[in-house]
Amino acid sequence: MWTINQAYIDGQFVPVQGREIVECINPTTEAVMGTVTLADRNDAKQAIAAAQRAQEVMGRTTKAERIDMLKRLQAAVLASTEQIRDTAIEEYGAPFARAQWVSQYASQCFANAAQTLEAYDLVRPMGAARVFMEPVGVAGLIAPWNSTAGTVCSKLASAIAAGCASVIKPSEMSALQAHTLAQALDRAGLPNGVFNILLGRGDEVGDEISTSPLIAKISFTGSTPTGKRIARAGVETLKRVSLALTGKSASIVLEDADFNIAIPLALNAAFMNNGQACVAGTRLLVPRARLKEVIERVKTLVAAMVVGNPQDPATDIGPLVSRAQYDRVQGFIRRGHEQGATLIAGGEGRPVGLEKGYFVQPTVFADVDNDMDIAREEIFGPVLSILAYDSEAHAIDIANATIYGLQAYVFSQQQERANHIASRLEAGTVLINRIVPDLLAPFGGFKQSGIGREFGILGLEAFLEAKTVASQ
Ligand code: NAD
Repeated sequence: MWTINQAYIDGQFVPVQGREIVECINPTTEAVMGTVTLADRNDAKQAIAAAQRAQEVMGRTTKAERIDMLKRLQAAVLASTEQIRDTAIEEYGAPFARAQWVSQYASQCFANAAQTLEAYDLVRPMGAARVFMEPVGVAGLIAPWNSTAGTVCSKLASAIAAGCASVIKPSEMSALQAHTLAQALDRAGLPNGVFNILLGRGDEVGDEISTSPLIAKISFTGSTPTGKRIARAGVETLKRVSLALTGKSASIVLEDADFNIAIPLALNAAFMNNGQACVAGTRLLVPRARLKEVIERVKTLVAAMVVGNPQDPATDIGPLVSRAQYDRVQGFIRRGHEQGATLIAGGEGRPVGLEKGYFVQPTVFADVDNDMDIAREEIFGPVLSILAYDSEAHAIDIANATIYGLQAYVFSQQQERANHIASRLEAGTVLINRIVPDLLAPFGGFKQSGIGREFGILGLEAFLEAKTVASQ
């Protein structure tokens, strides 16, 4: 049993003033694994004040000083890779391989930001003027629970590269991941207050960050409804707002694809992180003429998936994060039936042999219409919909018929054809014959999947303000 009752403010771990104590449940065993005392609005005010003081210094740092900070952060997080991985497995049931990838990616974010900053001109001539790219000011970084280290480090890396101090609010559901990460980041020995980390509720700590006049910029990752709330709250003080939100991504398999490669990859895209990934490819679009074959392949592959203990590297799918999420996903599976889809794998209830834990059977529906709830809404669990298309144009139409536009996947052996489809898809990222992103290229959403981009140059510029100086 662990107890977390501190926030990281002004370079110190300090007891929180908040009084709400929450029990944290291990989703694999349903046992209480620890407790967290949540920070409150007063803690948030202290953290913001500390960041505001640090901004005085941070705002005047040179490129070389920021690169040095990024390198120290990278080394500190790299040294804690295993602890970071293990906390994601314990806290939300991340499968081993996924947790391993995210923990490595967390340290890599700092190296990537250093590389981007190195090559970036912070001062450049435009017309007869000079343009200075200056830090926007104190940033509020708000993260979900489903990849705490990756999300926090990606945002923090861009903030530091731009010269911004920050107040970081990970999800109240990620106490252990956030605390372990805070301990790692602390070991980088950055000046006090340059980053501050506190766990608290969205409507308390999150709201204080979103409304404080001392915060200039919000970088948020989470659900679309929360993103809208934050954007509304921030408009009063005209905060710069970047939002990385909900997805309902399509995987388009063309008839010329190598199905031996494409179908396993598409299933991986659907079920990654136990289906709890914003970029999960949860709508599989296949040529109608090959539908039967795809269904047979999917049945075989899903039957071979290992569901169970996420600590075991052989496990494909671990539990969902909470009882509430388990119940929500069961509700979607029920509605899939009710609305007329055909179940071809999985279904309601736990997998056979797993009596405890928030385990859901990897579930696949065929005969799905794009208007059904399972095709329209983000389920955030291992539930895949197969939709048949009649032509390339039809596939593109189905893929784009969603309010979201985060990511899409295309599988084809003809690069030109895949490129053409990519050019027509309304998605921030299109991955062709692969499911891993490029961490130096921009990441973000079209439509209601977000505003702005993370990673690379655009991620850096999201924390910069252009100042034009023109003289006679
Ligand atoms: P969420 O929106 O419920 O919460 C995200 C964060 O916002 C948490 O830290 C929460 O405490 C905070 N929050 C809640 N209300 C707030 C308020 N009024 N003001 C300020 N902050 C507030 O999301 P979640 O359940 O933690 O995460 C899952 C969602 O995140 C999914 O929709 C998923 O698609 C999305 N997500 C998106 C990306 C991306 O890059 N696009 C990545 C990961 C997750």
